[in-house]
Amino acid sequence: MSDRSVRVRFAPSPTGPLHIGGVRTALYNYLFAKKNNGTFILRIEDTDQKRFVEGAESYINQSLEWLGIRVDEGVVQGGSLGPYKQSERMDKYAAYAKQLINNGYAYYAFDTQEELTEMRSKLEVSNMSAKYDSTSRMSMKNSLTLSDDEVNERLERGDNYIIRIKLPRNEEIRFKDVIRGWIVFNSSQLDDKVLLKEDGLPTYHLANIVDDHLMEISHVIRGEEWLPSAPLHVMLYRYLGWENTMPKFAHLPLILKPDGKGKLSKRDGDRLGFPVFPIEWTSPEGEVSSGYRESGYLSEAVVNMLSMLGWHPSDNQELFTLEELVEAFELERVSKSGAKFDMDKSKWFNHQFIMRASSDELKGMIEDQLTSIHTHRGDDYLNRVIDLLREKVTFPMELLSMGQYFFDLPSSYDEKVLRKKWNEEVSNHMNQFIDGLVDSKYSKAAQIEEHLNNYAEQNEISKGKLMQPLRWVVSGQAGGPPIFDMLELIGIDEIKRRMDVVNEKF
Ligand code: GLU
Repeated sequence: MSDRSVRVRFAPSPTGPLHIGGVRTALYNYLFAKKNNGTFILRIEDTDQKRFVEGAESYINQSLEWLGIRVDEGVVQGGSLGPYKQSERMDKYAAYAKQLINNGYAYYAFDTQEELTEMRSKLEVSNMSAKYDSTSRMSMKNSLTLSDDEVNERLERGDNYIIRIKLPRNEEIRFKDVIRGWIVFNSSQLDDKVLLKEDGLPTYHLANIVDDHLMEISHVIRGEEWLPSAPLHVMLYRYLGWENTMPKFAHLPLILKPDGKGKLSKRDGDRLGFPVFPIEWTSPEGEVSSGYRESGYLSEAVVNMLSMLGWHPSDNQELFTLEELVEAFELERVSKSGAKFDMDKSKWFNHQFIMRASSDELKGMIEDQLTSIHTHRGDDYLNRVIDLLREKVTFPMELLSMGQYFFDLPSSYDEKVLRKKWNEEVSNHMNQFIDGLVDSKYSKAAQIEEHLNNYAEQNEISKGKLMQPLRWVVSGQAGGPPIFDMLELIGIDEIKRRMDVVNEKF
């Protein structure tokens, strides 16, 4: 690595909610920056005002914040090379487009829409690609074909014009991608892209390059969909005289649909039953798309899951906190081929982080629901329920559905246990055992177990025959967490009350 300090940017356009592909780009930029003691910049690329969507920028900020991806320089954070929103930098770009013209690397184009359409259809008829490029430009109305006098006249008159880059014919453009190695394009594959639009505002290409240069970006880490634009960007660096400080490029692989057929799109999520957005998004029209946060994912699980979509550590470790990812992350270990989104794996990550989360964190995720539908028996009680059940759940809300009976009488009684295990004899044993338990004043798990052992021995019945009915009387379920811990938590008085309910019901 060069001695240049690492400065990377995530440069979303606020055209809608941030898709998890975009979040992964932000994450890899962040990890790379932190690993190299560098700076992570958030730049809002809002040059295309027509595609601007209300709320998208604050959605980006909220999403990164939820995931713990901290921005060093940005619209909110400030920084010495701002402003960090392109619409606030509009005075910076035109001069560079003019500089390119003066140096012979760009030109004014005066063609009308009709003339452009005519050119395209002519080229299509003769089976040539319909590009405004090194060949076709010579038959169009631009400062390469018109006389200097006419060009000046048009400019003075205030005719509409755009500025296009003047790419060479048939020249090899090469650059080294950190992930993909040498990338070679031929300039004839490209067209003379517009740099400055009729309204005097820059296109994405010009603004992006100028800003990366002015913000001293050292590495451009972005999605594979930008790879076809990279040769144009390389040419812009060269033509603007910035080749020596051109950032290194790293184009990340696509995130694919679960079946591997094509890129995971914004529409796939709710269609296939999983979120593709970090947090819930409500469009200005009121359409709601689900988010990981609202679906009960822990932010650490989402970060870990995304980190693995396209990157692998040097060993087999799968579980990482954000800090551990910073340590382990290497851009060189990002793969070239697309990464299939795997819903089961996402759930697996969530379960793993539920196992590691503090009870307080999980409590925070379920508490709201708890007060409305369950009897709240205090924080300590809730923490113990969480600890008994966490190994069985994928989402925190399941702690409440699966553990319903910890908060109230069982809402239902497993039919199969009733049919196969419940009869008069068993009922008598249960009543006797529970009455004995009440008299014994035993309340701890080990004591309850000892009491059951003694009862089984004295009555010459196997302990196994008593355990499932006992669980059923108290929870209505056939299975669940370790039975004696469960009984201790629910408490002897409540066990007795539930025995009475069963006596009445069955
Ligand atoms: N504004 C572009 C986007 O929305 C940025 C692409 C880049 O990183 O160069 O993805």
